[in-house]
Amino acid sequence: MCSAIILYMKIRKDRKLFYYITAALTILIVILVAYICVAEKAVAPTDTNASKQSEKTDPQKFNKTRYSIDEPGSPWWIVSKNRPLTEGYLPPDLVTPNVSLNTTKSASENTLRRDTAAALEKLFAAAKLAGIDYMLASGYRSETLQASYYNNYVAKSGQAEADRYSARPGTSEHQTGMALDVATIDRRHYLDQAFGEDPGGIWLASHAHEYGFIVRYQKDKEPMTGYMYEPWHIRYVGTDLAKKLYSDSQTMEEFFGLYFSIGPN
Ligand SMILES: [Zn+2]
Repeated sequence: MCSAIILYMKIRKDRKLFYYITAALTILIVILVAYICVAEKAVAPTDTNASKQSEKTDPQKFNKTRYSIDEPGSPWWIVSKNRPLTEGYLPPDLVTPNVSLNTTKSASENTLRRDTAAALEKLFAAAKLAGIDYMLASGYRSETLQASYYNNYVAKSGQAEADRYSARPGTSEHQTGMALDVATIDRRHYLDQAFGEDPGGIWLASHAHEYGFIVRYQKDKEPMTGYMYEPWHIRYVGTDLAKKLYSDSQTMEEFFGLYFSIGPN
C-alpha cells in the first residue's frame, strides 16, 4: 500500500507519464466494455432460438384463450344443451356455399356463415378428388325451424329419446351457421350412424380437421357433449383448434373443461 502511494506520487510529478498511464487505462476500459457487449450479443440469439423451439414442440403452449367460447359468433363459441344461444340469434353473414345442396330443404337451410361456407367448399373439393361426392344436407336453421324439427322428433320417439339426437329450439349448433350435416349425394346411410363406417363417413372423420371442421358428436362421448354419435354433423372451428382436437381425440367440452355439467337428459 505504501509503495503504491509512493509510485502514485512519482507519477503525479511526471505529468507526461501520468497522461500516458491515464490514456492506457481508458483504452483498456473501452476494450473491456466492447468485449462484454459482443459476448452478450453472441449469447442472446441462442436463447431466443431455444425458447422458440420449446414453443414449437411443447403441446402445452396452445393458446386456449385466443377466441372466446362464450361470445356469440366467436369461432370457438360453444353452444350446447346447457349453453343456449342468445335469444333470436341470427348469424351476420349467411351465404349459400358453392357445393351440392339438399334440394328437399329450404334455401335458408342451405346457407352457412361466410368462413364456414368457404372452408366447406375446400373440404368437398378435396373429397371429390378422393372420389367422394358430398352434399350439404342441412346447414343454418332458425329457431322456428329447429322447433318444428324437435317437435316432430318428440312426437315420433318421445322427449327423452328425441333429446339424445335433436336440440331443443334455442340450443342447436345449426343456428350458429357454423355447423352442418353432411351426406353423400347418393344418400347412402343418410344421417344414420352407419355413415361412420361408410367410405363417406370414414373420409370425413379423417380429413375434416385439415379444413377447420370437427366431427362434433363423437362415438362414446355422449356424457360430454350431451348427444349421441353423429358422424355426419360437423362444426367449423378453424384449422388450429380442429387439428388440436383431432390429434388429442377430444371434444370441445373436454378441451375447454366444460363437460362436467353436460349430460344426456
Ligand atoms: Zn346436425
